[in-house]
Amino acid sequence: DPVILWLREDLRFDDNPAMREAAASGAPVLCLYVLDDATAGDFAMGAAQRWWLHHSLCAFKEDLETRGGALILRRGKETEIVPALAKEIKASHVFWNRRYMKWQTDPDTEIKSALQDMGIKGISCNGRLLYEPWEIETKSGDPYKVYTPYWKSLQQKEGPRAALPRTDKLNAPPSLPSTDRLDDWNLLPRSPNWAEGFEPVWTPGEKGARARLRAWLDTDAASYDDCRNRPDQDRTSRLSPHLHFGEISPVVLWHSVSDAMEAGDIPKDQGTSFLSEIAWREFSYQLLYYHPTMRDQPLMEKFTDFEWDTDKKALNAWQRGRTGYPIVDAGMRQLWTEGWMHNRVRMIVGSFLVKDLLLDWRDGMRWFWDCLVDADPANNTASWQWIAGCGADAAPFFRIFNPTTQSEKFDPDGAYIRRYVPELRDLPTRFIHEPRKASTAILKDAGIVLGETYPDPIVDHSDRRKQALSRYEAIK
Ligand code: FAD
Repeated sequence: DPVILWLREDLRFDDNPAMREAAASGAPVLCLYVLDDATAGDFAMGAAQRWWLHHSLCAFKEDLETRGGALILRRGKETEIVPALAKEIKASHVFWNRRYMKWQTDPDTEIKSALQDMGIKGISCNGRLLYEPWEIETKSGDPYKVYTPYWKSLQQKEGPRAALPRTDKLNAPPSLPSTDRLDDWNLLPRSPNWAEGFEPVWTPGEKGARARLRAWLDTDAASYDDCRNRPDQDRTSRLSPHLHFGEISPVVLWHSVSDAMEAGDIPKDQGTSFLSEIAWREFSYQLLYYHPTMRDQPLMEKFTDFEWDTDKKALNAWQRGRTGYPIVDAGMRQLWTEGWMHNRVRMIVGSFLVKDLLLDWRDGMRWFWDCLVDADPANNTASWQWIAGCGADAAPFFRIFNPTTQSEKFDPDGAYIRRYVPELRDLPTRFIHEPRKASTAILKDAGIVLGETYPDPIVDHSDRRKQALSRYEAIK
């Protein structure tokens, strides 16, 4: 009897535990991908990720076919599709790699028991994390709520399992069930093609992921910690969308960087700093796994009563990168054109939304969800709660980023601003972080009319800072 390999966030052949098991069964393997927007609800894939998914599925399908495999696409409720297909093809087993959000684990449990009722085995594996959320716990057996002890505890482990070899052969059954056509899913933008700026930046798929890892290891990994906060230098790995779609596994990343440290190619402090970021991802998964209400409720309950503004105009200015704060606008425009934003700038724009515009962090989270190619339910949610001061181990709310000093510190020459806010390109560096400080003559020289070619700041940072603090006092 054939078996089904149900692919989800694991579109790769390398180090794919569920795929290994399916192949090892010796039976013909049918690969299945289900697009289920209804079950995901608010967390149905955003527009930027649909673009990615389209290309990632194309790349996967092509690689699969060279290995003798076949990919079946179905759209609809996974709790119906998976058991029905297993029954239709008389599968003996269905294999998959686990997911961890409650709206994902609930259907998985339901599907496993529906399969069991039909005498079909549902086998789940860990292909997404270094460790399962329950494998890293405090001395008293609880999950962590603070990152530093979590990271210490993770480091005390023997290390993640070895990476599994690539699967080279996956023979499809001789007769195939019907499949949707990928083009009919309409995952790509029509007109206007807002994803034009994605194409030069990204290569979705496993090959693209491996190439990016290789390039980053050869060039930027050795100075990761020194440069990771500098958006102008842009030297982080940019592996986040590949990790999200499972085109590369964290286990492979962990061992690649650890081996390079052992070999002396990457200094210990630089490599360890990178591994600690991989651990932030794991920590976010643990948080969301044990606190599923975090998906839309603050982890710190007192924040439920925080008085957020609802100001559509301000939200719109933030989304379009027209706040009059150049570093914020550069970040929001990078997000729009590339589907990605540098981590330091994510923190700056996040803090600005919450503490300068006094808008709800969930508004920011939703916009990121729609625009990011790496939108991840654990990382996005945990990071927004962290920046809003209401999550686990969060930066205290009263510590408020000053967007201008952040800009001076992390984009000292304004190169990042100039790249994404071209109307400020000719402004001398000493005014690039705060154009309104420049005289009319200097602005004129740079071809800028404030309030026309570039907006005046939509809020005054020091005023807003006071307001934010007084609202915080009210819930404290
Ligand atoms: P690198 O610096 O090269 O790091 C390698 C990997 O480590 C990343 O790919 C990512 O998987 C993980 N990582 C790095 N930083 C973090 C972090 N702070 N938290 C959790 N994991 C991390 N990351 C996402 O993957 N998806 C999101 O939806 C997301 N939303 C965010 C929202 C906000 C408001 C903030 C402040 C951060 C968010 N992050 C998110 C975390 C981080 O910004 C990105 O992971 C990082 O910028 C991706 O770039 P990179 O791959 O070059 O990172």
